[in-house]
Amino acid sequence: MFERTRFVLVDTSHPGNVGSAARAMKTMGFSDLVLVNPRDPDAARHEEAIALASGAHDVLASARIAHSLEEALTGCNFSVALSARLREFSPPFFEPRQLSAHLAADASLRAALVFGSERYGLSNEQVGKCSALVSVPANPMYSSLNLAQAVQVIAYECRLAGMGEVRSERAVGFHGERASAEQIEGMFAHLEKALIEIDFLDADNPKKLMPRLRRLFARAELEIEEVNILRGIATQLISKRQRIRKD
Ligand code: SAH
Repeated sequence: MFERTRFVLVDTSHPGNVGSAARAMKTMGFSDLVLVNPRDPDAARHEEAIALASGAHDVLASARIAHSLEEALTGCNFSVALSARLREFSPPFFEPRQLSAHLAADASLRAALVFGSERYGLSNEQVGKCSALVSVPANPMYSSLNLAQAVQVIAYECRLAGMGEVRSERAVGFHGERASAEQIEGMFAHLEKALIEIDFLDADNPKKLMPRLRRLFARAELEIEEVNILRGIATQLISKRQRIRKD
């Protein structure tokens, strides 16, 4: 759990928060930190970040920069959006403790925990790219935690669950290998193209079809084979349609 769980901070504006987040991670036994487009591209080397990281300078120094959320999710097969707000078209919702139990129970999960910016949090589109949505059940009158404190709470829950890693639920019965974030994004792009091709999706007025499909497939926890089947269907739809057009 500790080696296979990544923390991703998106569009962070305060280098101090990056340092505090690194400290929060290290105190709980985590070290994989990725920064997506931090406002200061050198945030991890900023003096405030270094000061607030304290003894976690190694986590800070090894933090990687990504230029998109997709890039930050490379190599992961489960991604979790952390948000104080619930969204209409969101992937399945978990409480922090349910999330940590889920991560601990399945050793095949390579998870990314995705945190939004101090000013805007995560966009609906970014939340829609994740496999799950988690919210810390804070005071409903004021539920927005400081970024690094949100990292601390989630890292602590994961530590508790990770220390008592239980027998994998997924070890029971047959399971294929879980699809990676890149494979799932590739499938959505392909499916979208096919749906436009067969006039089911109007590219000029897409409404909420893709967010709804993302929500549906996020609940399904797709395996590689299943992604390949869906892409096979998309390929057929496109080629049949193009053949009909030619005739
Ligand atoms: N003004 C922003 C708040 C961002 S706080 C907004 O309205 O969304 C920075 C980040 O900390 C959030 O994007 C989220 O990832 C995390 N965070 C803050 N409070 C949280 C909560 N109650 N539950 C889960 N994550 C939270």
